[in-house]
Amino acid sequence: MANAFEFRILASDGAARRGELTTPHGVVQTPAFMPVGTQGAVKGMTERDLRENGAEIILANTYHLYLRPGDRLIARRGGLHRFIGWDGPILTDSGGFQAFSLGPRRRITEEGICFRSHLDGSEHLLTPELAADIQARLGSDIAMALDECLAHPATEDEARRSMERTLRWGRRSRQRLLWLQSQPSGAVLEDGRTPVRTNPGQAQFGIVQGSVYPDLREESARETQAIGFDAYAIGGLSVGESVDVMYETVSATAPLLAADRPRHLMGTGTPLDLIECVARGIDLFDCVMPTRNARNGQLFTGQGPLNVKNACYAEDDRPVDETCECYTCRHYSRAYLRHLFLAKEIGASTLNTLHNLHFYLDTLGRIREAIAFGSFESLRRAFHQSYSLRLLAHDADG
Ligand SMILES: [Zn+2]
Repeated sequence: MANAFEFRILASDGAARRGELTTPHGVVQTPAFMPVGTQGAVKGMTERDLRENGAEIILANTYHLYLRPGDRLIARRGGLHRFIGWDGPILTDSGGFQAFSLGPRRRITEEGICFRSHLDGSEHLLTPELAADIQARLGSDIAMALDECLAHPATEDEARRSMERTLRWGRRSRQRLLWLQSQPSGAVLEDGRTPVRTNPGQAQFGIVQGSVYPDLREESARETQAIGFDAYAIGGLSVGESVDVMYETVSATAPLLAADRPRHLMGTGTPLDLIECVARGIDLFDCVMPTRNARNGQLFTGQGPLNVKNACYAEDDRPVDETCECYTCRHYSRAYLRHLFLAKEIGASTLNTLHNLHFYLDTLGRIREAIAFGSFESLRRAFHQSYSLRLLAHDADG
């Protein structure tokens, strides 16, 4: 089990890589997109929906599960996979990003992030050690080191201080996971019944920070890799910087990360961002965009995003995307989806989410195929051309 984590590159095309990531709960074809299941559920979806749409790995949020129903309860139920009924790979974030997002309800010290729960106002201190402990109890296949998420824009001084703290937190995170893994299997907490960890093969990713400053990114990449994580993520992007700056930072940072490990770009992005960052050597993506936007009526298509609320769809019998093979597009018209959305039917969220996830996962599938056949650049060009059609037609408001 200890060597369950493995990454193999099957083909590459320019900087784009087609790979296979092996985890204790199965294999993920990369480049891959992870739907976000904030509360241990991808909103509106069942496990069957995710599988049928081709999801191979999902992301769950440590912050939310720690507060409710509690990582100890989940560990006693056999771990997160068993608790949520998903037996495929799971990545958990460290909880840091959500704690940071609490604004005035949080304070950062060298020890960790002090925050008040958004549920009941109770006070918590999320340290690198606690983030590792919680994720070990949840038993995700990939755990993330606690990092400091810096707001954009930040001065170079602020970015340096934050990057250096992330390195210190990274060392503590790594040390803690190695210590947890040295505990005998069957080790339990002081309550005598909660397992210390529920997935002996859990891997841990370190996070490269440094805002938009190339020197800081370079130093962070070098020093984070010196800690010796299983793989590495690029954090601190898609936080308000321009798309060009984001692409430049990924271009400069990805090649600094070990070529034989998967590279994860955190919290990105639009379909165009995905294809552009694959072109820069990224293998793993997660983002709330397809699921959150679906619930707001924005549907992604090969011709660009479509806002199903728009009056022009009131009597439109076509599916959302005429080339899409998802359940929603095979059964329902834009007119009906618009009606469900305006009537605030629960089914609107489900059907819209099904389509958006299918679009993201199918796009990644086509990207993987193109890399394998050496035709990634022509796919990239064709995608850009087609995806801008509706944007040019001013049909993408909201
Ligand atoms: Zn569809």
